[in-house]
Amino acid sequence: MEESPGLARNLAELRQTFRSGKTRGLEWRKAQLRAILKLLDENEDSIFDALQQDLGKHPVEAYRDEVGVLKKSATYALASVEKWMAPKKGQIPLLFFPARAEVLPEPLGLVLILASWNFPISLALDPVIGAISAGNTVVLKPSELSPASSSFLANTVPRYLDSAALKVIEGGHDAAEQLLQQKWDKIFFTGSSRVGRIIMAAAANHLTPVTLELGGKCPTILDSLSISDLEVAIKRIVGGKWGLCSGQACIGIDYVLVEEKFASILVELLKKCIKAFFGDSMPNLKNLCRIVSKSHFDRVSNLLGDPRVAASIVHGGSWDEQNLMIEPTILLDPPLDADIMSEEIFGPLLPIITLNKIEESIEFINLRPKPLAIHAFTKNERFKKKLLSETSSGSITFNDAIVQFVADSLPFGGVGESGIGRYHGKYSFDTFSHEKAVLQRSFYLDLEPRYPPWNDFKLDF
Ligand code: NAD
Repeated sequence: MEESPGLARNLAELRQTFRSGKTRGLEWRKAQLRAILKLLDENEDSIFDALQQDLGKHPVEAYRDEVGVLKKSATYALASVEKWMAPKKGQIPLLFFPARAEVLPEPLGLVLILASWNFPISLALDPVIGAISAGNTVVLKPSELSPASSSFLANTVPRYLDSAALKVIEGGHDAAEQLLQQKWDKIFFTGSSRVGRIIMAAAANHLTPVTLELGGKCPTILDSLSISDLEVAIKRIVGGKWGLCSGQACIGIDYVLVEEKFASILVELLKKCIKAFFGDSMPNLKNLCRIVSKSHFDRVSNLLGDPRVAASIVHGGSWDEQNLMIEPTILLDPPLDADIMSEEIFGPLLPIITLNKIEESIEFINLRPKPLAIHAFTKNERFKKKLLSETSSGSITFNDAIVQFVADSLPFGGVGESGIGRYHGKYSFDTFSHEKAVLQRSFYLDLEPRYPPWNDFKLDF
């Protein structure tokens, strides 16, 4: 595909800005972070409008998952960036004394950020916070599936941030493909494992490093709990499934593993909680996002098309194609070879899989690709230890769901098919930096045995 003259001009300007050195300065970085905070403060209503248009997202959910998350990230970066930029002293062997060793973080250069549509503002600007904290110039491509958010970013970001250092480029696959032909110093991608493979192949042509924030099926384990703990667990499961973009979330709960003897009580409690949070069945549902597009609506509703899967529905199962709404739906033991149990659901369907013993959940998880997140509701310390040591996942959270995403001290990212690399807090800064090794020697103490001729030299250990 031929490169457009506009793109070539933009990239040349961004490279020139990087070469000028202005993005390396602490004050420039801080000014950009303050500009992001100002953008969020002054445009909250426009962000809520865009998210309403793209996903029917309630303003409270939009504040919690997008505006609030970004304010937290930008504030934290603003307070920390000077410390992050500072060179870290390194140890050196006595043999090389006198000398000084340092690890100096340096920006990578011009980076490409490809964002997803489910949290279209936060998943676009959160990596930008890391990239500019680290002193890079940036091209951001929002997802074409959330057009109102994409156009909000394209129109608003240049009014606040340094447009010689950051460009928002809108578009779909064609635009992404054209961008992927360019040489970048880093590609940061949020999206599916399928497209992640395409990104990595394109990056390989230029030996460009990648961070791939991907998805997959995130299991939740529910062990036996007291009634009061169970009530809290159910709220957290319902919130972590349907209260998070209606299940269209990378760390959202994909399915629940539970002992067979608790399955019926679990279904009853889930139904009660769904009713309390989202209201009675269609068309009276509230506080629930819609499915992002007709093709995703077809993909999710087709998962129920298999008659064996349809037969396992114990709650919900209806939809409104015109408004792209799918009712919160619970399935009890759908067949494990059906698409709903092999593909990432990314929608409001929740399979419950019953086991004889909760310990079997470990093998169940290990027989499948490594998840981005495991959530486990249990007070059994021995079982927790087993889960920690015998499973692998991007994160594991005990007795809650999703909240690990907002802890700046924790790395966020996958392992295996759920992703490569991590970000959030200092990890974001590191993701967009190169740690340069700097060694400064003195001219004193030049030990002769390091140089030839060695023939007459006798090692005396
Ligand atoms: P997607 O992979 O279809 O698209 C993501 C981006 O890739 C979009 O910007 C799109 O324009 C671009 N793209 C699509 N096809 C392309 C192609 N052939 N060549 C080049 N670029 C292409 O993913 P999605 O539908 O936007 O999001 C859903 C997926 O993203 C799920 O798998 C979910 O788990 C994952 N996700 C992960 C995270 C995370 O932080 N780990 C967050 C949100 C979503």
